[in-house]
Amino acid sequence: MKKKLILGIDIGATNTKLGIVSQKGEILESSSFKTESKKGFDFFLQNLKSACAKLTLNYSVSAVGVGAPDYNVVSGNIENGTNLAWKCAPLRGELEKIFDCPVYLHNDANIAAVGEKKFGAAQGVDDFIVVTIGTGIGTGAFVQGRLLTGKSGMACEAGHLVVEVDGRPCGCGAKGHLEAYASVTAIKESVRKTLGYDLFFSEIINRYQADDGPIEAIVKSAAQFLGVGLAQMQSILLPELIILAGGGSNLGLKYKKEVERAFMSAAFKPFQNKTQLKLSEISAKHGAIIGAAALGLEGLGSIDY
Ligand SMILES: [Zn+2]
Repeated sequence: MKKKLILGIDIGATNTKLGIVSQKGEILESSSFKTESKKGFDFFLQNLKSACAKLTLNYSVSAVGVGAPDYNVVSGNIENGTNLAWKCAPLRGELEKIFDCPVYLHNDANIAAVGEKKFGAAQGVDDFIVVTIGTGIGTGAFVQGRLLTGKSGMACEAGHLVVEVDGRPCGCGAKGHLEAYASVTAIKESVRKTLGYDLFFSEIINRYQADDGPIEAIVKSAAQFLGVGLAQMQSILLPELIILAGGGSNLGLKYKKEVERAFMSAAFKPFQNKTQLKLSEISAKHGAIIGAAALGLEGLGSIDY
C-alpha cells in the first residue's frame, strides 16, 4: 500500500503555514507565507494556491487538513474574523475547488486538540483541554473521547472568558477577556509598556529564564491570569489533562509551575489536583500543521468530527 501523506495547512492571523506530514506526524517539508488578510480573501487564495502547488510538486497527498480561526464547520466559512480582516470567507468551497483529494477543515484551536490526541500528550486520554498561547489564546477540548464542537464547531473559545470585569480591551471587541492578559501578544505589550521598547518573544523567554526582575513580574502576572482561566475551564469540563501549547509554552517549566500555582489556588476545592497540567511535546513552531494533518488523517479514517 502506498504511504499516505497529508498536506497540513494552518491559516494564522499573521502567517499561513503548510507542511507535508507523514502518518507518524513527521514533517517532510514545510513552507509559509504572510496571510495579509487585509488584501482580501481572493489575494490570499492565489498565494495559497501557488504555495500548495510548489510544496506538493514532489509528493502525492491523500488528504488535506486545514485549521483556520473563526471557522464555522456548518457553513464552511470563516466568519467575522477576530484577527483576520474577512467578514465571510467561503473557505471550504474554495479549497475543494483547488484539491482533487478530500479536504477536512476545523477551527484552529480544535485542530491543536486533534493533534495532541493523535500525536501528542493526549494519546489515549478521553477528557482534556489544549490551550494554545499565541497571538491570542485558543482552546480545544475532547469530552468523553469526542471533540467538543458546539453547534457550529466554534465552541470552547475560552480565551474569551472574563478574568477582569470591565478590564483590558480584547481583540474581539469586549473587555477583560483572558487573552488580553495571558497571550503572547499581551505579554509583549506589557513588556513594551514597562521597558519602553519592544522585545522579541525569544528574548523575553531568555530573560525570564535568567530571572530578569521586570520580565519575571510580567510573565508571572500573565501566568496567574491563565491559571484563573484554567480553573474556570476545569469547573465546567473537569478534564483529566490540560496541555499548554503554542509559543507561550516555550516559557517552560518555571512558567508552568506559576500557572499551576494560580490554577490550584483558584480551582473549585473538590476539583483540586484532579487535573494534570502538561506542556505540549509537539513543537510550537509546527504544532498547528501537525494538528491539521492529524485532522486529515482522521478524516481519511472516516472518524466523524
Ligand atoms: Zn475577547
